[in-house]
Amino acid sequence: MYVKGVGPKRAEDLKGKGLETAADLLTYAPFRYEDRSNVKPVNQLAPGEMATVLAEVKVVHTPRFQRRNLGMVEAVFEDASALRLVGKWFHAQYLANVLTPGTRVALFGKVEFDTYKGELTMLHPDFEILREEEEDEAGLHTGRIVPVYEAAGKTTTRVMRAILKRITDQLPEMEDALPATIRQRLKLPALREATRDLHFPALGTDLRLLNGFRTPAQFRMIFEEFFWLETGMALKRGQARAETGIRFELNDQVREQIKRMLPFKPTGAQKRVLGEIARDMASPAPMSRLLQGDVGSGKTIVAAQAAVIAVENGYQAAVLAPTEILAAQQFLNLKRVFEPIGYTVAPLTGSMTKKEKDVAKRALKAGLVNVLVGTHALLEEDVEFHRLGLAIIDEQHRFGVLQRKALQQKGVTPDVLVMTATPIPRTLALTIYGDLDVSVIDELPPGRKAIQTVHRTKLELEQVYSFVLREVQAGRQAYIVYPVIEENESLAVKAAQAAYQELSTVVFPQLKVGLLHGKLKPDEKEAVMSAFQRGEVQVLVSTTVIEVGVDVPNASVMVVENAERFGLAQIHQLRGRVGRGAAQSYCILVTDKLSDTGKERIRTLVESSDGFHISEMDLRLRGPGEFLGTKQSGLPAFRIGNLLRDREILEIARAEAASFVERPTSEAELEKATRYVREHWQRRYGLALIG
Ligand code: ADP
Ligand code: MG
Repeated sequence: MYVKGVGPKRAEDLKGKGLETAADLLTYAPFRYEDRSNVKPVNQLAPGEMATVLAEVKVVHTPRFQRRNLGMVEAVFEDASALRLVGKWFHAQYLANVLTPGTRVALFGKVEFDTYKGELTMLHPDFEILREEEEDEAGLHTGRIVPVYEAAGKTTTRVMRAILKRITDQLPEMEDALPATIRQRLKLPALREATRDLHFPALGTDLRLLNGFRTPAQFRMIFEEFFWLETGMALKRGQARAETGIRFELNDQVREQIKRMLPFKPTGAQKRVLGEIARDMASPAPMSRLLQGDVGSGKTIVAAQAAVIAVENGYQAAVLAPTEILAAQQFLNLKRVFEPIGYTVAPLTGSMTKKEKDVAKRALKAGLVNVLVGTHALLEEDVEFHRLGLAIIDEQHRFGVLQRKALQQKGVTPDVLVMTATPIPRTLALTIYGDLDVSVIDELPPGRKAIQTVHRTKLELEQVYSFVLREVQAGRQAYIVYPVIEENESLAVKAAQAAYQELSTVVFPQLKVGLLHGKLKPDEKEAVMSAFQRGEVQVLVSTTVIEVGVDVPNASVMVVENAERFGLAQIHQLRGRVGRGAAQSYCILVTDKLSDTGKERIRTLVESSDGFHISEMDLRLRGPGEFLGTKQSGLPAFRIGNLLRDREILEIARAEAASFVERPTSEAELEKATRYVREHWQRRYGLALIG
């Protein structure tokens, strides 16, 4: 569609924001609205109010100050009430040529009274030149409730407003794809009307509702954006359920093995979640389940129980971990629980030699391995299972959707269990993992002592170190962690190396200090980690590579340096590395000077040990993109909806989408919706919703 006022330059700007068509522009929602509808004659203006004035330029000056030229322009306006109003602009010399005497303008701004000169003024009012031949523009930037847009390159909010006015003024009939039943039930305005009101709300619309994005028009547009995403997710869930997977049998023998394998009594939450998993596994549809649980809540053992169900049914299980260290750790853990019941557990990671890998692959293919634990190496093409029945993916937020798929394709639609220790706020879980069923372990194993978290400044480092020394002398171990700033891992490595030098030679010459970071070779990492595990290394200096999953129960102190540079969820993960044994554990957050938000973030950690609460706060303080922290986070790019502001609309959309897909009014309607999502929304969400 050709839009007047959009030339090639402008089109480039708009493209930068993903706005390529008129339809794209229509979904470019204002981020704020201003009420400029208070039009008054000058003689009725009250100082302090925001008002719009229609007046004519009488005189324009460019006053000069003694020393500096501030580029000030002063224009005197007069209207029918014959009173004067002075508009002032700094650094705006060009206005002298625009506001020539006789020009009629609409001015919008805050009215002030200059007692010294006895005149009414407006500082930097927004204005609009009123030309008779351009009637259609009159009253666009003033005299109404105006939308305020985020600028796109050189395309300012004013230009954006003009472009959108032109488009919305010639809106053709728009096909309203939202199912009529839903539109009626939720009393949603029609698409065309809602689109227009989103950009140019009618006079008299409640400004608080507008800026809270809860007018009927806004509600509809937000709802619609979420609704089609959730419809896509629901269709995908439906497709997955329609496939035939494995129907695992849950007989007494299976139950007996699970019991034999368990090293401790499971918590209520673990039992409940295993029940949910077992039910999925026993059903013929393939399982796609997300297992969320705070650090230390005991997800591993639940996953192991699921693996027992698979193995007892004659299938293999695969465990995919994001790093070598974690894979090694998972391997050791699982070997410990599985060997007593006679299962063969094998590792497969990138750091193994070709020969070792070949041996493992052959054993796997021959069905001699019951449980395979590995890293990405496990996804390589030549890794073949004898009979893969269950794929367990640990710390899912580090894996892309494609990797999930790759693993899944190694079996005849195996069941998939995805685990994450970063509690994901529900709103995000619904949008990223909307195609998964969710189980939550919301209870910690008994006898855990709460970890004491304290905040210290850099100036108090010496006390922090002597505390570490005392703990180590009492037989415990400590972590000291330095942040990795995403773009610059080598800086963090340098910081950790320098700290290691100092800590091992000057601060703790009497202790065994180890160094762990991402640039070490896999076998070096492995060596340091297992030395720490065996207690031979007492203080482990590290970058965030230890963030997830590491389990050394004797470690009781976690010192986080430059804690202000970490995300809250990340620190919570780090903190979860201690408090795993019987001893009282401590987390010490060391920071530089803090901003107000910084203080709030640290306070959240000191006061709360609830991972869900912390991740909600993190989400609120950093926003969804930062929270997930990766480019391929899988978060759809919403244009109108905002996950923080609109979570209740998301919930409504999800419920509506689920019942729409499960109980459509007619097959034809569902088919139409499927086509519509595929054609119109996949690109916008940047997701492969339905195959
Ligand atoms: P995460 O959920 O972080 O992966 P883990 O599975 O590593 O947690 O469990 C943390 C620790 O708690 C492990 O040392 C594990 O053996 C122990 N644990 C798990 N469940 C229980 C339980 N029901 N009773 C006692 N200890 C448990
Ligand atoms: Mg774990």
